[in-house]
Amino acid sequence: MKLILLGPPGAGKGTQAKRLEDNRGYVQLSTGDMLRAAVAAGTDVGLVAKDIMARGELVPDEIVVSIISERIDLPDCKDGFILDGFPRNVRQAEALDAVLEEKGLSLDAVIELSVDDGILISRVENRASESQGSVRDDDNAEALKTRLGVYHEQTAPLITYYKNRGILRTVDGMAHVDDVSRSVEEALGPV
Ligand code: AMP
Repeated sequence: MKLILLGPPGAGKGTQAKRLEDNRGYVQLSTGDMLRAAVAAGTDVGLVAKDIMARGELVPDEIVVSIISERIDLPDCKDGFILDGFPRNVRQAEALDAVLEEKGLSLDAVIELSVDDGILISRVENRASESQGSVRDDDNAEALKTRLGVYHEQTAPLITYYKNRGILRTVDGMAHVDDVSRSVEEALGPV
């Protein structure tokens, strides 16, 4: 199965993607993780991405589209993958459609984790206070404000984009994490 997990920063996409990876064997493809790895390794992509990410803005579309296109070709994606944090805007969604079509693949479902902004802000604040020193560059109030703004302006339109295709399923991301997982499993149906 090929899925997208859609939702604002702090909605729990990474947590749910990891659970799906464990339960179903689909691979989690997080563009945020891949970009952080590129920054840590000091690659050309990392050098471009570093400051943009710290501000909470979007890295250029061409970069993330080519990262995802190459990653999908690896053999571990054969049994299914979960796109976590990609696409982030309509241009990326259209590019993904083209990439998948070229590879003879198609999306099975888009799961939207719906969470109010107020809850996201307190989650990020908790994450910052609990992680003592190892906070991500973009886990601060200023960057979160930008990330939420970018989500509402650029990413939220994807809800309509995929609703119109009939593949969007919305899950209450404010429930307990185990209940969210159950709802995600129900939305996807049996393995
Ligand atoms: P995430 O871990 O998904 O919250 O992503 C962290 C940061 O990486 C984002 O705020 C962006 O700066 C960058 N990023 C991750 N995925 C994308 C994407 N699909 N398009 C552009 N920038 C991205």
